[in-house]
Parts: sequence; C-alpha cells; structure tokens
Amino acid sequence: MNITAKDEDRHGECRRVVILGGGFAGLTAARTLEDAPVRVTLVDARNYYLFQPLLYQVATGDLHAEAVATPFRRILRKNSRNFILGTVTGIDPERKEVHLDDGSKLGYDRLLVALGSTTRFFGKRGIARHACHLKGLTEAESLRSRILFALERASRCPDPGERREWLTFAIAGGGSTGVECACGILELFRILLPRDYPEIDPREVSVRILQGSDALIPDFPSSLRDAARKRVEELGGRVLFDVKVDDYDGQTIRFSSGDVLRARTLVWAAGVEAPALIRHFPGEKGEGGRIRVNDRLQIPMYPDIHVLGDLALPPDGPHPQVAPFAIQCARHVARSVLASWNLGPFPPPFVYRDPGSMVVLGRYDAVCHFPRWGFGGRGITAWVAWLGLHLAKILGTRNRLLTLADWGQDYLFRSAAMEILRQPESVDLEKEDLPGS
Ligand SMILES: Cc1cc2nc3c(=O)[nH]c(=O)nc-3n(C[C@H](O)[C@H](O)[C@H](O)COP(=O)(O)OP(=O)(O)OC[C@H]3O[C@@H](n4cnc5c(N)ncnc54)[C@H](O)[C@@H]3O)c2cc1C
Repeated sequence: MNITAKDEDRHGECRRVVILGGGFAGLTAARTLEDAPVRVTLVDARNYYLFQPLLYQVATGDLHAEAVATPFRRILRKNSRNFILGTVTGIDPERKEVHLDDGSKLGYDRLLVALGSTTRFFGKRGIARHACHLKGLTEAESLRSRILFALERASRCPDPGERREWLTFAIAGGGSTGVECACGILELFRILLPRDYPEIDPREVSVRILQGSDALIPDFPSSLRDAARKRVEELGGRVLFDVKVDDYDGQTIRFSSGDVLRARTLVWAAGVEAPALIRHFPGEKGEGGRIRVNDRLQIPMYPDIHVLGDLALPPDGPHPQVAPFAIQCARHVARSVLASWNLGPFPPPFVYRDPGSMVVLGRYDAVCHFPRWGFGGRGITAWVAWLGLHLAKILGTRNRLLTLADWGQDYLFRSAAMEILRQPESVDLEKEDLPGS
C-alpha cells in the first residue's frame, strides 16, 4: 500500500498530520487533534500505549503487564482506523513521505516525530548483550524472570561463590529509574524470601546501586538525595558511588578502575539516547542524538516536520527526558499545526515549565520536589501523592482498575502480583548451561 499525496487529495483529505510514535508525546498530540478538521494518522511499532513510569513495577512483580499497556485502537476509539501498526524505517522530507518496514510509504503535510529514546549502552557490547534494561514490556518481564531464575538457581547451589553471584543484583545508574527499580527489588525480596525461599537467608542477598557520580537522584536537593540513599540502605541495599561500569559478561561487572563485582544480574539504568534510525533523519543532532529544533519545535530546514518528547532539543534545552516535557511539546505542536492552517492562533514560543518530580522509594515512601513552588518533601504523604498521580495518568478505566487491584493485593496482603517465571527462555542461559562452560 502506497498512500501518496495524490491519492490522499483524490479523497479530499488535504490536511494530513502523520504522527510517528504513540508514547506520551505522540498520543497527546493525536488526542489534542482528535476533533480538529485534519486527518491524523498515528504510526507505532506496538499496538499499545505503554505507561513507562510504572514499568519497573512489572519487573518487580507488583503489576501485571496489562495494567500499563492500553491498545491504541481502544484509546483512539473515535478514529481508530487512523492507527497504523508499523515500524518506521525512514523519512523522505523532500517528497514528504514516511517509509515503513512493510515497504509502504505514507504521505504527510505535517509530520510529528515522537519516536522516543532507547537505552544508552555507550557502545559497550557486553553490557548491551548481557544486562537487563527497562524500556518495554518484554524487557520488564524478562528482568522479572531473571530475578526469579536467580533465586531458583541460588536456592540449590552448593558452591558458596556461585551462590553469592546468583544473589548479587546490581543496578547501574542512580537516577530515578535506578533508585525506583532498586527499592522495588528490595521490597520484593522482603516479601518473597521469607515466604517462598526459606533456603535463602535474606542477609545473603546483595542489591547494589552502581552510581557514576557522588549522589543518587542528582537533580534533587541534597537533603532528598541523602534521604534516597538512606532509604536504599534501610531496605538492605548498598550504593557504590563514583564507579563507572566498563564491561559485563553476564557474570562479572568490570569497572573502569579495574575492580570487578561478580553478579549474575545487572540492570542497566544509566541513560537513554535517540534510536539509531534518527541519525538518518534531517536536522542537526545534539546531546544524546536528539534533534535540534526551533522554538516552535520544527526542524529549521523543514518547518513541516516537528520533533516532540525525548527526541526534541529546543533552544531553551536540553530538558530532562520525562513525560511532562513530552506532553507540553505535544500540546504546543498541535496548536502550532492548527495555527499554520488558520485553524487557531499561534501559541507563544515553546518554553518548558518543569512541574517537578517524584521518586518512589518502595512501599509507603517517596521523595518529591517542586522547584516552581519551592517545595519538596519525603514520606508517606509524598508516596500517596505519587500513587494518586500515577493512577490518574494511567489511561483507561480498565487499566486503572487492574492497577488498583494489583496494588491492593500488594499493599494490603503483601503479596506480589506476579511470581510466575513466565519467560524462562528469555533468561540468558548461554553461559551457565552450555556444555563445557
Ligand atoms: C523505565 C522508565 C521509567 C520512567 N519513569 C518516568 C517517570 O517516573 N516520570 C516521567 O516523567 N518520565 C519517566 N520516564 C521517561 C518517560 O517515559 C519518557 O520521557 C517519555 O515516555 C517520552 O515520551 P515520548 O513520546 O517522547 O517517547 P515514548 O513514550 O518512548 O514513545 C515512543 C513511541 O515510539 C514508538 N516507536 C519507537 N521507534 C519506532 C519506530 N521505528 N517505528 C514505529 N514506532 C516506534 C514506541 O513504540 C513508542 O510507543 C521513564 C522512562 C522509562 C523507560
């Protein structure tokens, strides 16, 4: 199927907005334009919208995968036929066409590029191959399986050295994703070990955050950074500061200092970058491969192409690659696009307004920081606020109910939602199970 500009015109559909990527940015733009007299087409490689902030809870068994994923066709019910499941392989800005993996081409009048980011491995192949990371549902479920698999192996491992390796869980990166993930894993062990693994002494288990700088969650004020470290330690974890992970082979973490740490599980939460495909997109690239845009979030040479969310590098940036930035970009671009067709006034130049951030530190604890209001805090109030905000942001009543049910089970009955080793095949068995290894 090749939908060309000519074909589209024959059908009288002149104002074609094509949105690449249905994450926070792309989906917000699609919904903002839903009632406008334009034809919106959303393209995504997945058939569902993924609520990434709660992905680590899928990995730690607190939530079922279905709770954080909502099918696009259900969200875009009014215009569900305007969703295309497909992987974008490139764009031709001269012909105004998008290329998809099935060989089809899609014409556009305005293109909104919102393809998000991918895990940054800094070119370290061993880490990319052997570490777990959190980007999609598959990766989250694979991490959960890896954790459960490690406990199973440790539970019947007679060799103390190998047992220690299975029971060492390292998280590279002490930003919000790394800290939330570490606290989630520690909480999971608090419940799971005494109940289901009596053969493992909880003191044998080691969860370590490997942080490249001298503080966790560095964007927070120092009192909250310290609070996060203390909480990790209270839960039984440890933080190694100023360490740089250089390599990993599935068993040994090598630091640039020459030191090593033996661990069968490494979670890589040390940063993101633009997907490789973006190198071939027009526009100048900046920090992390992001595309430089003007204050209308357009690529200066191609004003009919806007860049949103994690991929956008506006003049007042770089901004943190977070959901509020993606959403603000999307709303701004939707208004600009309509204004360019005289369907509304032009918005003022884009300026990001940071609404603040929250990091959850396991059960009943969180830190929050709202610089605009000069307010920050820690404790159960912040945790309740975090819970409420995330519940409100999850799309769809069904997903909210699923989340509530899982949380109810977790928090009231202290039982994890999912303790089934669902994907044993995803566990990297190569090293330990190949004959002769
Ligand atoms: C584990 C994790 C936890 C996070 N926690 C928080 C948090 O607590 N708070 C917060 O504010 N932010 C958080 N973030 C960051 C936040 O999720 C991102 O900043 C936000 O999702 C960016 O939105 P986006 O629309 O630019 O990209 P995304 O939401 O990543 O969406 C990109 C979309 O593009 C699609 N896509 C990618 N490549 C292709 C292709 N070639 N063809 C077709 N489709 C494609 C993807 O399937 C995806 O649907 C977290 C991120 C992660 C990974």
